[in-house]
Amino acid sequence: MKIITVSYRLPLSIKKSKDNVKITQSAGGLATAVLSYSEKSNVDLTWVGIADFDKTTWENNKNRYDKNFEVEPVFLEKQLNRMFYNIFSNSVLWALFHYFPSFVEYTDDGFEAYKKANEIVAQKVSDIYEPGDIIWIHDYHFLGLPHLLRKLQPDAKIGFFLHIPFPNFEIFRILPNKVKKYILNGVLGSNVAGFHTWDNTIHFTECVEKILGVPHKNFIFSQESHRTKAGSFPISIDFDKFHEAYDNDRVVTLRKEIKELYEDKKIIFSVDRLDYTKGVTNRLKAFEKFLKKYPEWSEKVVFLLVLVPSREEIKKYGERKRMIELSIGRINGNMGNYKWTPVVYQYQPVNFNKLIALYTSADVALISPVRDGMNLVAKEYVASRKDLRGALILSSMAGAAKDLKEAITINPFDAEMIADKLSYALNMNEKEQEVRLERMQRYLKKHDVFNWATKFLNETEKIHKLDSKST
Ligand code: UDP
Repeated sequence: MKIITVSYRLPLSIKKSKDNVKITQSAGGLATAVLSYSEKSNVDLTWVGIADFDKTTWENNKNRYDKNFEVEPVFLEKQLNRMFYNIFSNSVLWALFHYFPSFVEYTDDGFEAYKKANEIVAQKVSDIYEPGDIIWIHDYHFLGLPHLLRKLQPDAKIGFFLHIPFPNFEIFRILPNKVKKYILNGVLGSNVAGFHTWDNTIHFTECVEKILGVPHKNFIFSQESHRTKAGSFPISIDFDKFHEAYDNDRVVTLRKEIKELYEDKKIIFSVDRLDYTKGVTNRLKAFEKFLKKYPEWSEKVVFLLVLVPSREEIKKYGERKRMIELSIGRINGNMGNYKWTPVVYQYQPVNFNKLIALYTSADVALISPVRDGMNLVAKEYVASRKDLRGALILSSMAGAAKDLKEAITINPFDAEMIADKLSYALNMNEKEQEVRLERMQRYLKKHDVFNWATKFLNETEKIHKLDSKST
């Protein structure tokens, strides 16, 4: 028996230099959690995903690195992958599922490519599948996969988890009928369909009832071949890793540097992929409002804004980048002076130690997505504050707001509200910071990513068993 995990990206990094190829299995949250589950349950793990390297590189090097689990890359033809990933997954599904219907650029060719890619991956998974294996499919790239696999392997244990929001019926219905049916039937191929929140789960079940006419009882859809249970499984982080990093020597040094650099100022911090869902333009507008409404903070605060390059080949992302950079220029030009730059901006990723140093130097983390499935940055910020200092301002549109109950929640569209909450957070006394962070840390320690993976996979086993018993 083994676990077969399917995700668009493989948890691998391949670095090619002139005469050397270095492959490492990456230690992202999802990979660490599934690996830990497989080790505890004493079963093997195989990861299937789309290769972002060529077949020859892989064939020549696949046995020359330290492996914690098996990897089965799927090599898609370049144009097919572009249509599947950029044109359908990211320009239709990502936009619509995050409530940006006007950003959707639907084409039939994109949908055909999506179906084709799902079929190729289904065949690959089916080829390595053995009876007893548990298949865990991840995210919006593979909404058709559970159904395709159910046809190929009728008795398989299949779990599907969506890492982005599932939109409500009024938004979902915008898709062409054939696409809606493909998606809903696709997900219903699984034994468990998991979402981050109950709201998302209810949206999914409502769409299935209204569009396919399939009713559910207690979130279980009974079909001829199997049952599908829809449920809420909020993803989390490796709490201990972020908590303990506070004391890493490198983090301590970097934190000292940051604090010295801004010794007479309070620090507001945010980090996101550059994505229109993250609410960065609204955030900047709110920061500008804050500086105008609370002029006593002039020269006494700095906003460190880290944006990580993402999906640069898609037009909407380039447009958003220009809008953000114009805003930053305007704020710094109008509000700053030769001694003070209100927004310090970087459009580059940061490594783990720098990220923790920034989290733990910040007086306020300002996280304001206009829509987000979960938002792990919010959880990481809370976990990293071993010193119990700092305040979290979090958009109520993020799944994380359901878990982090002691955050200061905001409506990411309400600049005035954000400005007021910034003032509140910057003035928060240490006792209140401690009480809020302690409660949230207690929650996160208990509900970490290992707990999440275990709950999801156990539920998949349990629901699958119900069918085996009744036949
Ligand atoms: N992150 C990263 N590179 C960076 C900065 C942050 O990979 O330069 C990580 C961050 O630690 C977090 C993830 O990116 O784990 C972002 O996850 P989140 O759920 O907040 O947003 P997503 O990018 O998945 O929409």
